[in-house]
Amino acid sequence: MNNIVDFIIDVFLKKGHELYGGEAVTQLEHGLQAAHFAKESNASENLIAAALMHDIGHLLHDLPDDATNNGIDDVHEALGAEFLIQYFKEEVVEAVKLHVPAKRYLCLVDPEYYEALSSVSKASLILQGGIMSMEEKNNFELNEYFKEAVALRRWDDQAKIPNLKVDDIYTYRSILEQSLLKNSL
Ligand code: FE
Repeated sequence: MNNIVDFIIDVFLKKGHELYGGEAVTQLEHGLQAAHFAKESNASENLIAAALMHDIGHLLHDLPDDATNNGIDDVHEALGAEFLIQYFKEEVVEAVKLHVPAKRYLCLVDPEYYEALSSVSKASLILQGGIMSMEEKNNFELNEYFKEAVALRRWDDQAKIPNLKVDDIYTYRSILEQSLLKNSL
């Protein structure tokens, strides 16, 4: 293993074949699709990297894939951010950390968003703290990475399409490399 980018690609290839918690795509497909939608939206490279890795926390713990069904919040956004902060730029880390609060936020400001959530995602919402209060919403909007987090969340929710043809993980090597902290290169 030469560097952290190789390690991350390896994690996806080794552990990304589990289904994405009750959805019809694997973890790898889900990450690649989220990154694909970020690219289509002309997102920054940091944000494309964040989209790809937003659920890496799911691949770094040993809880069963259906933990939500058993009433367990695996706090994957925190696990992911804790890992990424060692190697990646702040925008990457913050977008990953905030993608769950962004879901709670969107449920408050966009009732159609809530209705469109998959049943799995509605179930995990309760474990994640439910729909935001107005006070939480106001605080969230003040966050420096609020817009990035909401954008990432929308790609995340789109990224559940069975058999969608998208670029493979290797095409993200340079994007991941440029999103690294300088001392991680
Ligand atoms: Fe996700």
